[in-house]
This record gives sequence, structure tokens and C-alpha cells, in this order.
Amino acid sequence: MRISRRVADARYAIRDILVEARKVRQSGTKMYYLNIGDPVQYGFQPPENVTEALVRAVRDGNNYYADSEGLPDLREAIAEKERAKGLRTSADGVLVTNGVSEALDMVMLSMLEPGDEVLLPGPHYPPCASYIRLHGGVPVEFAVDGSEPDLDDIRSKITPRTAAICVTTPGNPTGWVFGKKSLQAIADVAGEHGLYVISDEIYDRIVFDGVYSGMGSVSPDVPVVVLNGFSKGHLMTGWRIGYVAFGGSGSLDGLRDNVNRLVTTRISVNLPVQHAALESLRGPQGYVGDFVSAIRRNRDAMVRRLDSMPGLSCRAPRGAFYAFPRIEENPCSSDWEFVLELVRNGVLAVPGSGFGSRYGRDHFRLVFLAPPDVFEPALDRIESVLSSTPTS
Ligand code: PLP
Repeated sequence: MRISRRVADARYAIRDILVEARKVRQSGTKMYYLNIGDPVQYGFQPPENVTEALVRAVRDGNNYYADSEGLPDLREAIAEKERAKGLRTSADGVLVTNGVSEALDMVMLSMLEPGDEVLLPGPHYPPCASYIRLHGGVPVEFAVDGSEPDLDDIRSKITPRTAAICVTTPGNPTGWVFGKKSLQAIADVAGEHGLYVISDEIYDRIVFDGVYSGMGSVSPDVPVVVLNGFSKGHLMTGWRIGYVAFGGSGSLDGLRDNVNRLVTTRISVNLPVQHAALESLRGPQGYVGDFVSAIRRNRDAMVRRLDSMPGLSCRAPRGAFYAFPRIEENPCSSDWEFVLELVRNGVLAVPGSGFGSRYGRDHFRLVFLAPPDVFEPALDRIESVLSSTPTS
């Protein structure tokens, strides 16, 4: 029987490593899960008014297929949010999706012809590259110098096949937050070469230090496609809701029409969840500050400890909720082997090369969504693996 060869390339290291962890756990070893970027699995929950809105929507009979583009009031509220960040958009320019994941899938499918290249910062969020490949494109990583994109590297990697530049800020797995100057420079390069800018801003509310700027704030005329959602800053991971917001000039009309065709094909996004998302945007926002303060404390404690361990160095991420330490002295033969050794010692992390072997290797990723009393014993185990006898 035939199967698609394209799908064989779609890999997500975070999921793959779980298979190994399951085996170790079955043998009775206690496992510390520091792998998954899901605040809800670490005890955070959407606020009561948002949960209420979901339940009320169900009780009130909102259990039917919604408009494919999304609930009109929600599209308006999203447009307001993105306009406040500087994007030139309107409710008509917003399409509600089943998370940023579906948004990425639809945008790449709508944009790419076989062989088209898409620039993305290295290390990168793996599904972004997977969707590019699935839809016939070629992901091309560019370097990020510290926490700013390397503009010379971007320029040197643009070819006649380049279709778009992707930006993820704050970034996963590094927690970098690009400054406005860098965003402006990317917009300028994109404008010069007639490229789309695809900006994944899912961590826009999770910034610890400095000011956050969205891509839409820099250059109103550049065709910017903002991808965003409710999983992270709104604590709604399992409800699966996000959106595409088209900004900038009319040159996005063709792409927008294509994505519109795709949203119609998949009928609609879960309607009660759209009501909850609307409440999440329009209701009290105090919980966001509490969440960010809690994870800032976790970040400070985790990064301090990791950076002080012999054999590791760790920068403080400025946003998102991931530490991405560099393995300076690896007792194992690769970051992948190091993470497998951690798993055998009861700590679940993600190998850096899962985020792109060129820029991610020799690192691993931990989430700091759990408080120090939960993650400290895991860090003790990491320290003891680091001081173990090297394996070949
Ligand atoms: N984009 C980035 C950069 C992410 O890190 C993640 C989840 O880890 C997603 C998108 C997934 O978003 P969603 O839950 O809205 O599909």
C-alpha cells in the first residue's frame, strides 16, 4: 500500500524522546519531566472567568459549526490586540485557527511551491521546519548572534528561491527576544527582496527583561503575517486555538485568499473555545503578571544553578520558559546521548540538535515552569551525570 514519503521527514524530537522515557519509567525510576512547553501541565490553569465562558458557551447551545474564519467578535478582539502591538490589520485580516500549529501548516501550504526556501532562525522550533518540508519547501537556518539575528548571514542566504523570512520572538528553545532595530532590519531586507515575513509571536506576553516589540510595529508596508495563539500566555494549551493576522500592504491578498480556502475546507475551530478566547482577551488580565512573575523566579533559580555547574554554561533567556544550556564538557558523545543518559537518570529534557543540528547541537532544553523545589532534584541528577566518566 502506498504512503506519502513527505511525511517521513516530519519529526519532533520532544515527542521522540518520550518513547525512551516511557521505558525507563516502566523500570520504576522516578522521572522529572522538564521537557514540555505546557504551563497547564505544571499547575497553571486558565482563570476562572475564562473557564466559565467556555462552560457557559456550551450550556447556551454554542455547540455548532462556527464561521470558518472564526467568531466575528473574537476576530475583532484579536485585531485590536495586534493593532495595539503595531500591526496594520483589521478583523477581516484575522483568521482563527486550531493553534499556531494549524496556522503554520496553512500558511506554508498556501505560500510554497516545491523547492522554495524559507529562512528561519537557528536553533528553531521544529514543527516550523517540518511544515516547510511537508509542503515541499526547504528550511534554511540563519545565525542569531547572542540574541539578535545576524543580518549578514540572512542576506547571504537569500536566493531566487527564497519565499519568506520566519521570525520567532521570544524564541523557542533559546528565549531570545529580538530588538526593534533587528526587526526593522529584517523587514527592510524582506522589503528589498519581495519576501514575506512570517512572525510567530506566541510568547509575546512572556517577556522578563526589556521591552517586547512585535514584527508589525516596525514597518507598516512590509507584508507581515503574524501567527499567535492562546496556548502559552493565555494558559489554554489543550483547548487548541490560535490565529493568523495579516498585516501590511495589499500584497498579502493572494496568500490570505489561499489560507481562507484552507480554513473553509476544515470547516471551523471549536466554537465554545472561541468564546473562552474572547473572554481571555477582553476579561481581567492580572493573571498574566502573576504567571510571568512566578516563572521569572523559576528562571532565575534554574539559570543560576545551571550556569554554575562544571561543564555547562547557560544564558538567561529574556522570554518564553526554556533554559538552553550549552554542554561545554560532554561526558557523552553528543547532546542526544547526553539527554538519553539524563533520561536513564530520571530527567526528561530535549536534545539541542532536535532544534536543528547546526545551531542547536551541544545544548539541551529544560522548561522552568515548575518551581525550584520540584526541579532542584532534577538538577542534582544533571550535575551528577556531568561529573560521570566520559563514554565514547
Ligand atoms: N510556536 C512556537 C514557537 C512554540 O514554541 C509552540 C509550542 O511550543 C507553538 C508555536 C505551538 O502553538 P500552538 O499550541 O498554538 O499550536
